[in-house]
Amino acid sequence: MGAGVIALTACAPPGATGPSASSPASPGSLTSPASRDTPVPPRPGNPKERRHAPAAGGPAPVFSRATARPGSAVPRTVALTFDADMTADQGPRAARGERFDNPGLIDALRTLKVPSTVFMTGRWAEEYPAQARSIGTDPLFETANHSYSHHAFTPGCYGLPVVDRTRMLADVERARQVFERVGVRNAVPYFRFPGGCHDDDALRAVAPAGVTAVQWDVVSGDAFATDAGAVAEQVLAGVEPGSLVVMHCTRSAAPVTEQAVRRIVPELRRRGYRFVKVSELMRG
Ligand SMILES: [Zn+2]
Repeated sequence: MGAGVIALTACAPPGATGPSASSPASPGSLTSPASRDTPVPPRPGNPKERRHAPAAGGPAPVFSRATARPGSAVPRTVALTFDADMTADQGPRAARGERFDNPGLIDALRTLKVPSTVFMTGRWAEEYPAQARSIGTDPLFETANHSYSHHAFTPGCYGLPVVDRTRMLADVERARQVFERVGVRNAVPYFRFPGGCHDDDALRAVAPAGVTAVQWDVVSGDAFATDAGAVAEQVLAGVEPGSLVVMHCTRSAAPVTEQAVRRIVPELRRRGYRFVKVSELMRG
């Protein structure tokens, strides 16, 4: 299996500092100004969820990290996020025994009591419905949408096949429907574009789903990494108060993430950080 094929599975290749075909939001900003003060009723199961919904016809807002409010510093919080990647065409590979899940990582997060946000593809939830339900009913976690197919929402995104613009919204909705079907109860209205790749067209296409696009400011480098220490060092060097870290929950493409997390968590706590879900990071 060549690296080019494997590269289709993960959000960011080794050494990537960000998506190749997007313009990430300036840190902490919600880039759709019209959206900021438009409350939308929460969905069942998330009564306290604060929403930033797009204006009609406008782009989905984008969140990348927490920033300071006037007169106060950013709290010493950090959000670890884990992309549960599986693409729509990887079923045969899973059938041959390739593991796109990472139950050891989830166990570690539970043991270490690290609130986390899991960005799950619909295809992953179909392949691992019991794990999706377990994550999706655990108050330690929140489950966010990472598309159904894990195909690209812009051209030139790590070699991923591209979703037609007319199919983008349906791809997001299909993942949400799978989550409901398998019993995910802690779904939050956040969407991470596969590879993080997005443009204005893509933000407008997914906006009717009522989602906020969630990027990151710290790339863990766990995709295809073989050295857990190097991943941990990269995260520890990059985290600042309010940071949002992207990692992966798929052994196939990120085999050392659990080991890295076991190093990262105690060290960040020693430095005074508190781990929060994206929803809390967004609340500031
Ligand atoms: Zn991904």
